[in-house]
Formats: sequence, C-alpha cells, structure tokens
Amino acid sequence: MRSSRVLLCLLAVCCWFSSRAQAGGPILVGGPALGNRPAYGVDGRPFTWDPSKMPISYRVDPGPMAVTPQGGTVVDHAAGLRRIQSMLGVWTAVPTAQISFTNAGNLLPAGTYSSGDLKTVQQFNDVMGSCQSGKQNPVIFDADGKIVSGLGLSPDVIGFNSSCAVDTTTGYITASAIVLNGQFQDGVSTASPLNYELDAAQFDEAITHEIGHFLGLDHSQINLDLLLAGVYPCEDDGLAGLPLMFPIAACQARADAGFPVLAPDDAAWISSLYPNASTVNSYGTISGVIYFSDGLTPVQGVNVIARLVDDPNTQENESRRVAVSAVSGYLFTGNPGQSVSAGIPQAPDNTNGSTAGSRNPQLIGYYEMQVPPGTYTVEVESVYDQFTAGSSVGPLDPPISMPGPPEFWNQNESAFDFLLQRDPVTVHAGDHVTGVDIILNQTIHRFDQYEDSGALFDSPLALPESTVKDMSA
Ligand SMILES: [Zn+2]
Repeated sequence: MRSSRVLLCLLAVCCWFSSRAQAGGPILVGGPALGNRPAYGVDGRPFTWDPSKMPISYRVDPGPMAVTPQGGTVVDHAAGLRRIQSMLGVWTAVPTAQISFTNAGNLLPAGTYSSGDLKTVQQFNDVMGSCQSGKQNPVIFDADGKIVSGLGLSPDVIGFNSSCAVDTTTGYITASAIVLNGQFQDGVSTASPLNYELDAAQFDEAITHEIGHFLGLDHSQINLDLLLAGVYPCEDDGLAGLPLMFPIAACQARADAGFPVLAPDDAAWISSLYPNASTVNSYGTISGVIYFSDGLTPVQGVNVIARLVDDPNTQENESRRVAVSAVSGYLFTGNPGQSVSAGIPQAPDNTNGSTAGSRNPQLIGYYEMQVPPGTYTVEVESVYDQFTAGSSVGPLDPPISMPGPPEFWNQNESAFDFLLQRDPVTVHAGDHVTGVDIILNQTIHRFDQYEDSGALFDSPLALPESTVKDMSA
C-alpha cells in the first residue's frame, strides 16, 4: 500500500541527534579515562537520569501544539499538554520501573525567547542553549513545522529528542529536549507543499518513542520481517512484539491495533535502566557472549533476541509477541580508536576513539537482557544494514553484517552445529541464566585487534558525526 511506504521513512531521521548511539538497550554508555582524557561517566554503565533525583522536571512551550498553514489552531496548548502528559505517562506507568516526571511550567526565558509561543529558529537555539547549560528540559511545540524546516530537517521528521547535557562524573543525563512537529497534526495532507498527516495515536507513539530516547533508550530490532515485507497493516503477532523503540515506523500505531503502547522489549529495557523494588520479582536475566567460529574471539554488534516459546494451546504466537533483544557488545565502545591515520589531512585524531563505552575486553561480545519469567529460545541475526545514523541499533554505526548465518542457541554450541537446533532456556523471576553463548558457524576470518585489516581504516574516517551534528545545530 502506497501510504504505508511513505510512513516507513517518517521516523528515520527523527531520533537521537548524537553520534554516540551505543546499544539495543541503553543509547549511551560510560567510558574510562584514557591518556589525558578523563572518564566519561561510569565505565560500562549506561547513562540514565539520576533515580535519586526523580521526578524529572520538564517545561512546556506555552503555544499551541498544532496550527494550520494559515495559523488557525488545531490542537491548542491545553490539549497538547494533556497529550504530552499522557505520553510521559506511558513510561511512568511501567510497574517495574522507577520513573516520574513533573511539569515545572512554561519554558524559561533564554536569549531572544522571552515568553509565549516559541516560533523562530533563533528562539529555539537560545532555549536549546539553556538546555545545554542544564537550566531546563524543554518540550517544544513546533506548531507549524517551521522550526523543523528552518533547521534544515526534512518535513518527514515527526519530532526529535536532543540530549543537552550529561554529568560526566556521575554518569547521569542532566538535561534533554523534545520537539514535536505539529504539521503532522494540522489536519492538512498535501503533496505540494509537502505536508504529512498522522492519526493522533501514530503521532503520539512517535513522540513517546522520542521520550524513550530522552530517558536513555536506544533502538531495538525485533520482528524485522515486518519492515522488510512492507505489508500494511502489520499482522497482530508481529506488531504485538514490535518494540516502540524500533528505529522506523513500519506499522500502524500499536494503540490503534489494541496493543499497549510499549512492547515487552520496551518495558524490559526501561526496567533494566530504572529498576525498582518489584523488578527482581518480575524479571530474570539471560546473558552470554557471541563468538566467532574459533569459539574464542568475541563478536560485537550482533542482534540477540530471546523469544518466549510458543504455547500451542493459544491462538496467539507468543514467540512473536513476547521477545526481548540486546546487541552483543552493547556496553563496549563502538570505536576503540587507532592512531594510524591521525596525521592524515581531513582525518580527525582518533587515537583514543570514542569517549563512550567500556574498554573491558570481556564486554566485546557480551549481551545481557531481562526477560519476563518463562521459557525462551535465543537467536542471533545481523542488525539491518539500513539502520544507520539516527536509526542505528547497537554500538556499531553502520552495523556489521554478522560474520555467519543466523542461528539459535543450543546446548552444544559449535561452529558446525545445526542452525535451527534450539534448546529452551527457562528463566524464573530473579534468576540470572549465564553462559548462553553462541558460536557462529563458518565465520570469515576474525577481525580482532591484533590484525591489520584495511577495514580498520574505514570506521574513523567515515563517522557520520559532522552530518549528524549539523542537523542538531
Ligand atoms: Zn529513534
């Protein structure tokens, strides 16, 4: 269906405007001190908001949420505020996570912005400046889409999150912003000038996804076949398990199909980042390492999915509906650095690599995820090669093609096992099932730190930082 293909690209550029995406789980992970460079947060620990400083205080643009091209109000401020509160409430309602928000009132003045409806790019930049200095967490209604277009962003950006500030000593997020493109809710749908429209549930889910980034979540890849098949509307079992944090809006709104806004993966990961007293009674943990065929060398950047074993006595396919994913090496840096090209013109000095992510070699191929109690299969696959930049999943951007075929975990893992042999992993609440390691079959030669493959030259030269940073300016 043509309309669905248009929708597919909508979220592609809406996301976290940072080059430091880290994981199927947390979006930013702390890294150690290196050389003269101080530590960046806490080594190997995801950046989150400080749980001891809840609620998170936000401030809202006092203007309307959406206006027509002629300026007529479509969604007024009060209705927009109610919708924002409802979207934040999706995350605070997770019973196994400790998150709360409080509305601190209207946006604070900053530079050319004094009060009232925030309308211009200059006002936006000034308010973002005050966000970057930690003064406020703004929620900005770009009621007519003029700020998004004024920033040079595509009109298919539904909204975006911009992380403003982190405390590099404590490893906590300290300021962040959300922008909503009201043009998607202005009641106008035209090809020229380009003006998309979404139903309220689709729009609100796109912004709720941005709030997931605001809280420190990365994208997750589960039921990728729905995107690849391009069939609209998506089938129920696949949609039920499709994370809200999937990088691209591939399907109808989850709420429109009668499902909770958050999929099991979203609830599991927000509970991992913000556990409360009941989390341990509601989740168990599966962990392991993904290896090359030698069974010794870890592989980073592989998508790992735990799926509940289907109950044949129900109509539903639980293996599609209840699934949680992680990317191997999600706590390890995506760019360990190299000094070979540091002197080459146009190549930045990349000697110590990214500030983010651990350098503990035991984390290179390691994954860990919380799952609801039950019996699971565990499988590996590549991160989809189109998931790059603002749509990236996991620590590597662009992602690698997994150096072996997709397979399931079984008890006798080897480089020559039967790919479809799957053994159950039973997890009770509070359990930590370790050693669910997968040895990939017949992999290409390993590319570890002791080799000098030409591939090593690619990454530091091709980082999309400049493009991405331009977009958030
Ligand atoms: Zn996103």
